[in-house]
Amino acid sequence: MEKIIAHLEKSGRLLVASHVKPDGDALGSLIAAGLCLETMNKQVTFFNESPIPAVYRFLPGVDRITAILEPDNLCGYDTALILDCSDLDRVGEQASSYISQIPVVINVDHHITNTEFGDLQYIDIRACAASQIVYHMIKKMGVSISQDIATSIYTGIFTDTGSFRFSNTNKAAFEICEEMVELGVDPYNVARHVYGPYSLARIKLLNLALDTIEISANGKLSMMTLTRDMLNETGTRQEDVDGLINYARRIEDVKVAVLIQEAICWRSGRQQESKKKKHNYHVSLRSDGSVDVASIAAVYGGGGHLTAAGFNFDSSITDLKDGMLTLANKI
Ligand code: AMP
Ligand code: MN
Ligand code: MN
Repeated sequence: MEKIIAHLEKSGRLLVASHVKPDGDALGSLIAAGLCLETMNKQVTFFNESPIPAVYRFLPGVDRITAILEPDNLCGYDTALILDCSDLDRVGEQASSYISQIPVVINVDHHITNTEFGDLQYIDIRACAASQIVYHMIKKMGVSISQDIATSIYTGIFTDTGSFRFSNTNKAAFEICEEMVELGVDPYNVARHVYGPYSLARIKLLNLALDTIEISANGKLSMMTLTRDMLNETGTRQEDVDGLINYARRIEDVKVAVLIQEAICWRSGRQQESKKKKHNYHVSLRSDGSVDVASIAAVYGGGGHLTAAGFNFDSSITDLKDGMLTLANKI
């Protein structure tokens, strides 16, 4: 971490980025790091390729995030700080090819499948969230934590630990969040946004999704399938898919839940079907803790954590489902 801090201190113009389809940690770590670097008088661009889910729009500084990278301007950056990404492609495929041209790429992450990309890395798989690592970085740099930075760090830890319920919940999660509350974070305010009301459209999507659940012969694997038509029919967006897989995971005896989603692509922050779509499906995996889904995702070229992972898949859904059911026999 010392090398990273020394480099950040001498850098001038930075791009700070996190993964597509951002969660609370991707946004929390991005905003916290970006605001901290601004406090240090750096010129900072906050970048995320995807639309910001409505539940996270309360985050202070969220309007600073841009989905557009101007290739012509890229030569101006001396450093890219990439957060919560197990590989550089997670920032978005086009963005990753631009970012790899920035002279120094720094990789700060907590995924077990991190590929150690970049010129400088700080990967701590015991950290509950990338926001936890960013907190330690800010402390080491001696920057004081404003209420806006505190809200971002708190939200990153709160959401990546599933509100302190998941197996990654550690002592630091409580200690840091306590300190963030002392610095002015209102836990109720964060929770009420993160667990805001569902639109009727989202409930209708849930209804369609529940109807697709298939269970393997041994009862240990559940599979949910979402098509683009389901999203169109219900008038829902990608962010409404968030959390649906938990219904498949909570079924009695199920050890691994799979959510297969027909791919949707974004361009410049707008949801669109890509004309030259690269992947046919995105697959999310969740486990009850007894099966390492990160290594399953890695076999398919994806990654993640022991209990939450994902990958993209390009051939037929029949092949995909067959692959998952074969897997079920081994658990
Ligand atoms: P998801 O199911 O998409 O919410 O992702 C669950 C976890 O897997 C997150 O930690 C992601 O960062 C990771 N993940 C999802 N998709 C991929 C992918 N294509 N490559 C690497 N990691 C992924
Ligand atoms: Mn994340
Ligand atoms: Mn994370």
